[in-house]
Amino acid sequence: MQTSPYNCTVIGKILLTPDLMILRIRTDEPRTQFKAGQFTTIGLMSNESRSANSVMPVEDAKPNSLITRPYSIASANYDTSEFEFYISQVKSGQLTPRLFDLTQGRRMWIDDKILGVFDLNSVAEGNNIVMIATGTGLAPYMSFLRSHIKDHHNVKLAVIHGAAYQWDLGYYSELQFIQAAFPNFFYFPTLLKPDGSWSGLTGYIEKHLEGEVLQKAGFEIEPCKTQFFLCGNPKMVESVTAYLSKNNYMKNCENGGLHVEEY
Ligand SMILES: Cc1cc2nc3c(=O)[nH]c(=O)nc-3n(C[C@H](O)[C@H](O)[C@H](O)COP(=O)(O)OP(=O)(O)OC[C@H]3O[C@@H](n4cnc5c(N)ncnc54)[C@H](O)[C@@H]3O)c2cc1C
Repeated sequence: MQTSPYNCTVIGKILLTPDLMILRIRTDEPRTQFKAGQFTTIGLMSNESRSANSVMPVEDAKPNSLITRPYSIASANYDTSEFEFYISQVKSGQLTPRLFDLTQGRRMWIDDKILGVFDLNSVAEGNNIVMIATGTGLAPYMSFLRSHIKDHHNVKLAVIHGAAYQWDLGYYSELQFIQAAFPNFFYFPTLLKPDGSWSGLTGYIEKHLEGEVLQKAGFEIEPCKTQFFLCGNPKMVESVTAYLSKNNYMKNCENGGLHVEEY
């Protein structure tokens, strides 16, 4: 008889939209200490059902195989048994339609390794931190803020989050709350397709960087003063990198001031 590879249980699932969710799981055994910003790999067997709103991929996964993908951890790093993930559904994907069909209490697989060098807490003492994300690229920043905001009260911190619609702004209330509670934290959500009820920023993230939204909040755009983190859509990463390179930033190198994770 084959034994199940499953080693964790779904303890919460919040569907923010039919294609965007927060998933919480509890591992059977605690993981080792990790750094905020890192990712792990989760998975489901190919015989698990797919969500009703997904579409069949051209080629489905092999029968009786474990489908695995990496996901950034959104929860604080002081809890090594309960993990939160912020996941968008790729309707024709292999894993996400199966994840979206999960319900509380269901079993799944999680790797015992937690990996990645997108570690926000390694920033030099006294540097400001700007965290830029599109979509679910926000996840590592939620882990960082939940784990470390208290350690960074003497520098400025900002989150710039780009999304299409209001309902795609996951963690909006929590980020608004952090902004109200911590005067050194600035939250700039910007929407590409807002409706009439939205009075915040609109358009691409690059437009607001060019418009000096950060300088107006007191950030100096110099690699030795403000570190930038970019996570999400490769097009956003490319154009924000181009803007920052005009200001002497260099990607993923020591003292370059620019840290990138692409999904
Ligand atoms: C380090 C790392 C961290 C990640 N963290 C997250 C996270 O926190 N949240 C999250 O939602 N995803 C995250 N991802 C992406 C995730 O690993 C999967 O690639 C994604 O969820 C799609 O998996 P799938 O099996 O459903 O689709 P697949 O079967 O792998 O992909 C099917 C097709 O869809 C395309 N595709 C893949 N991703 C997307 C997308 N996002 N939008 C549109 N098309 C896509 C692929 O190119 C492929 O052609 C991360 C990736 C990396 C490398």
